[in-house]
Amino acid sequence: MTVVRAFRLAAWGRAPMLVDVDTPAPQDDEILVRVLAAGACHSDLHVVDAADAAAEATFGFRPPFTLGHEIAGEVAALGPTATGVDVGTAVAVYGPWGCGECARCGAGADNYCDRRGELGWAGVGLGRDGGMAEYVLVPSARHLVPTGDLSPTQAAPLSDAGLTPYHAVDTLRLGAGSTVAVIGVGGLGHLAVQILLAVTPARVFAVDIREAALELAHESGAELTVLARPDTHRALRTENGGVGLDAVLDFVGSDSSLTTAAASLRAGGDLVVVGSAGGRLTVGKGGRLPAGTRVSLPFWGTTPELHAVLALARDGRLRVAVEEFPLSAAAEALTRLRAGEVRGRAVLVPDP
Ligand SMILES: [Zn+2]
Ligand SMILES: [Zn+2]
Repeated sequence: MTVVRAFRLAAWGRAPMLVDVDTPAPQDDEILVRVLAAGACHSDLHVVDAADAAAEATFGFRPPFTLGHEIAGEVAALGPTATGVDVGTAVAVYGPWGCGECARCGAGADNYCDRRGELGWAGVGLGRDGGMAEYVLVPSARHLVPTGDLSPTQAAPLSDAGLTPYHAVDTLRLGAGSTVAVIGVGGLGHLAVQILLAVTPARVFAVDIREAALELAHESGAELTVLARPDTHRALRTENGGVGLDAVLDFVGSDSSLTTAAASLRAGGDLVVVGSAGGRLTVGKGGRLPAGTRVSLPFWGTTPELHAVLALARDGRLRVAVEEFPLSAAAEALTRLRAGEVRGRAVLVPDP
């Protein structure tokens, strides 16, 4: 058994560490994937920073496990009964693994698996061993999507930072003349701007607390970028002819971002809460939300949507801003991400 390295969370409140593990051997339908890129996400920070076992009720899973839920690589080995993919194929891993048996999983929508509450994991790298490692074991070929000539460092972030906003945008009805704001222009947000421009006719505004993030939003095609302040909603409304916006996608999810989002919407608009910063907004008639507001809490995306996101990228319509770190610098990548210093997505690649 060959020893390889994996960046593992051993217990709640313990710093994750790069440790030696045995190369996993694929059983039954499992596929072994050699990891060529693994993205680092804010949800990794939420998990790593969870101080104690109380987090378990929130997440629905517990350590120990290897982190990393945005993965691209190549198929290294197949379990004895595995079919549907060949050794050597370049793939992205669809991450929100479900039970594989319910109607939702049957439709490729494992993100909304009917048995999520019983599984003990939210996906690869979130309760199950993930891709911040040299190899990752995937339960079935149905979670692998061929990436063709897309580079692994582009494909890996697209499996969450691309897929999640794609799924969120897909729930919206944005016709000609509509306007949407993206709050939080990090890994997901900068791709949300690009996806909105690629698949909807909407005008796209972007909000962030960091000047560098607003530059990235501008480069991603946002028409207007606004520094987040208590009166940001006024600036957004003014730019939209004095009326509120048709939709706000909140990739932060803090009290202040939700307050800005609610105050920016027009009647009959969509509030899409993607970020998990722990903010709370009370939903009720006569409250802060305009009449007719639809609120949604999308989680990740579906397998067909991952195919669509990767196709957009192959067509040159999506470009992930990537900062590469070797796997041995995984801890540093998380530290930089926590400090808000990563431009776009931090992606771990194999050590030279
Ligand atoms: Zn994520
Ligand atoms: Zn299921």
